[in-house]
Amino acid sequence: MSTLRVLLTAEEIQARIQELAAQIDLDYPAGPVYLVGILKGACIFLADLARAMKTPARLEFVGISSYGRGKTSSGEVKFTKDLDVSVEGHDVIVVEDIVDSGITLSYLVQVFQQRRPKSLRVATLLDKPDRRQRPVHVDYVGFHIPDEFVVGYGLDFAEDYRNLRDVCVLSE
Ligand code: 5GP
Repeated sequence: MSTLRVLLTAEEIQARIQELAAQIDLDYPAGPVYLVGILKGACIFLADLARAMKTPARLEFVGISSYGRGKTSSGEVKFTKDLDVSVEGHDVIVVEDIVDSGITLSYLVQVFQQRRPKSLRVATLLDKPDRRQRPVHVDYVGFHIPDEFVVGYGLDFAEDYRNLRDVCVLSE
């Protein structure tokens, strides 16, 4: 039987998002900033982050598959949906739910650099630094968390739990 233990409450998440948004507002006073969310996990974080920001934002999404239904990365990254627009000459922030091995993000950063944005930064709600296999620089980190499998607030296990308001550790 699966059990859920709350790791970060909805209130803690929202408070931290206000801080991240304030930092982004300072860093990009004019805008617009392209927030590029990684489907599906980052959609809830991106929606809250965008609304907490005062700087004008444009919302874009890409689809990536690397995990399938398992809990560990297959190490293979594929685009299932690319950007609909050119980001050349624009400020871009890639918005992730969680950085684990770093494989997904290092691939995405490499792909987006080739599209010649004016600037490229990365925001993630969660970071599991203990599990890193590829070095990636993350500019805005919500929370550093221990090496445990988490669900909720956009994160799933086999498509379940995404609409939980808290981030929870899932154990079986
Ligand atoms: P990475 O390529 O950094 O290993 O993995 C990033 C992706 O793996 C995330 O976008 C997320 O989809 C998935 N992932 C990594 N750790 C977790 C976790 O603890 N819980 C869930 N639900 N997904 C995770």
